[in-house]
Amino acid sequence: MVSQKSSDPLHRPVQYLRGIGPRRSPILENYDIRTVFDLLMHVPRRYLDRTAVVSIRELRRAAEAPEVEDGPSLQTEVRRDFTVLGDVRSFRIIGFGPKARFVLVLGDSTGTLQCVWFGGVQYWKKAFTIGEVLAVSGQPTAYGGAVQFVHPDIDRISRRGEGPGDVEAGTVDWAARLNTGGLVPLYPSGQDLARVGLDSAGFRRVIHGALDEHLDEIREILPPRVLSMRRLIPLPQALRAAHFPKGEGELHEGLRRLKYQELFVFELRLALKRRAAREERDGIAFGIRSALARRLVDTLPFALTRAQVRVVREITADMATARPMNRLLQGDVGSGKTVVALLAMLIAAENGYQSAFLAPTEILAEQHFQTLAALMDGLPVSVRLLVGAQRSRLRREVLEDVRSGGAAIVVGTHALLEKSVAFDRLGLVVIDEQHRFGVLQRAGLRGKGTNPDVLVMTATPIPRTLSLTLYGDLDVSVIDELPKDRKPIRTTVSDESAKASVFSFVREQIAQGRQAYFVYPLVEESEAVELKAATSHMHTLQDEVFPELRVGLMHGRMTTEEKDAVMSAFKSGALHILVATTVIEVGIDVANATVMVIEDAERFGLSQLHQLRGRVGRGADQAYCILLTKHWIAQRARRGAAQPDLSLDQQRQAGRRLAAMAETTDGFRIAEMDLQLRGPGDFFGTRQSGIPQFKVADLLADSALLEDARTDAFAIVESDPVLGRDEHLALASHVKTHFADELLKVG
Ligand code: ADP
Ligand code: MG
Repeated sequence: MVSQKSSDPLHRPVQYLRGIGPRRSPILENYDIRTVFDLLMHVPRRYLDRTAVVSIRELRRAAEAPEVEDGPSLQTEVRRDFTVLGDVRSFRIIGFGPKARFVLVLGDSTGTLQCVWFGGVQYWKKAFTIGEVLAVSGQPTAYGGAVQFVHPDIDRISRRGEGPGDVEAGTVDWAARLNTGGLVPLYPSGQDLARVGLDSAGFRRVIHGALDEHLDEIREILPPRVLSMRRLIPLPQALRAAHFPKGEGELHEGLRRLKYQELFVFELRLALKRRAAREERDGIAFGIRSALARRLVDTLPFALTRAQVRVVREITADMATARPMNRLLQGDVGSGKTVVALLAMLIAAENGYQSAFLAPTEILAEQHFQTLAALMDGLPVSVRLLVGAQRSRLRREVLEDVRSGGAAIVVGTHALLEKSVAFDRLGLVVIDEQHRFGVLQRAGLRGKGTNPDVLVMTATPIPRTLSLTLYGDLDVSVIDELPKDRKPIRTTVSDESAKASVFSFVREQIAQGRQAYFVYPLVEESEAVELKAATSHMHTLQDEVFPELRVGLMHGRMTTEEKDAVMSAFKSGALHILVATTVIEVGIDVANATVMVIEDAERFGLSQLHQLRGRVGRGADQAYCILLTKHWIAQRARRGAAQPDLSLDQQRQAGRRLAAMAETTDGFRIAEMDLQLRGPGDFFGTRQSGIPQFKVADLLADSALLEDARTDAFAIVESDPVLGRDEHLALASHVKTHFADELLKVG
């Protein structure tokens, strides 16, 4: 939202800035740069340290004996360049056509330097005059006895025709030069931006102009208490420092302030949302005494773990209030989330409300349906399954049952939330494996007539850093304990040459009555190729390795009925071995399967391996996970636990992932390692994961700052929920301008 009449210059549309105009603003908009503020938050990706102004003789020395780089000096990348000051001695075009290059000779009292440009020679030919003084920056190379800068950046120190000027570095006002002589910003750009002149140098010009023109008018938005408590420099100063720093110390402080602000505003929005949700009273206040839930607990073949009991209490306490529940239930694979959800759904049923249970895929919906139906055997509660693959008559029947209220629990995919599905009295929505859906839109639920409670379940343990940002507006319950009968899965990393012994181990386990999975990675993009590979693996295992056993196959190309048939054959024990692609990654539950063999294990991500491994070890028997991989990776993985050093070398990464798997079965530990290895952007694989993209801050590197920002933001909303106090007015107006659509209640 951009308000044209906003008096704060930061909130004015970027179009009105000098050097932008109607031609460039739509292109900037593609990069989410709409206001002056957005432009100023377009901070450099890197800086070139051009503070070393040297003589040409010194430059020659540097070109001949290049210094060994000692790595980035700050968390912000700074590359060291050299700056030379000299007067133009000569220039000419050398060569023809596409090979033509423009060579300019610059001189000072110690020697001469060649500046070379390939391309654009006609332009450069007219750009200079003999005798004018230039500052040029770049990396020197020695070339046939001469010292060169290829495509240097330049600043004109004395204008054409003004004469040689004073060629003394000490007398130049470097702060007024944008391209040489100081810490020079390099901006993220793109082809479309560069085409309209907004390459790095273009951004330098425009942003420098914007700062010159508006810096005095920029108002502080952070409350004074926060500034002093966190030792943050004022906004105008921070902006100046981030774009045109005088030194690394100032740069660091400027960036710290901007990062903090970005994280703080993000957390403030979460705090406000959460506050608004807490004040809602239009949800359902369920009575939590439930004969049905009691009966279920009494008939279960196991006792609930302490953690399960605790989260059931947390959930039912939420359900008892008229505030709509927004709760995330985290629990590692096999921790028993389904029973917890079922207890909540039984309470809803006893109160006369329906529940919707959403699974990420139809296969899982089907499986959950069967699990729930089995658990509720003997309870007077009707469960229905609604999936796209059903025949239309059955589907109509189910839809009618849902509409009339005859179905107390409806299992399906997120298609359940579509308009075409009408509920009689929807009271509770349970969503399994939430990260596959992205962030839930509560708004869609209100369309169902009631304002149901929502319980989101995830088996992807989310590292604290991420859960703070992703789920900051949800309440979180954690099942941090596995059922007592579980033995930790034994995980080994084997190289492929050991396949024969792996096969005989599998044979032994099956002889003892157990079952096994063999999983293959999706090697090719194309499903057809994947299908072929999995099929041929299946035949090899069946015909050549295990002719005496029954081997089945499951892959993503099968229809729901086909998958179903395979699953029930495996569940019933009719199949000994299930060969599968990653379709079995989530939620498949066969307690008798105790061996998971993962081939080409180096191709899987860490969290994915953890999910796959979670398919075994679901009962009281000792379970095994065998990670098959290339010889050298296996060696690396066996050599030791994941080292904390973070070289991004892919081979080592693969080795580390496998070592991490062998080292721990703790999903949270694995998630932390995964986040470190991959970085937050990649963590959930997809863009729709709902992980916010920050412009300045980095979730991983700035997690301490994030925690501070969160603490401060939540404290402020706690004490001043509408941001009405004087010291919060600037903040309120900032938030209102930038996020008007989501925060109508502020101010
Ligand atoms: P997840 O949290 O991965 O969804 P499930 O709910 O599928 O886990 O539970 C995994 C298995 O453990 C199921 O077979 C379930 O019946 C069983 N289970 C759940 N709670 C307990 C418990 N307290 N003791 C023993 N087994 C349990
Ligand atoms: Mg409630």
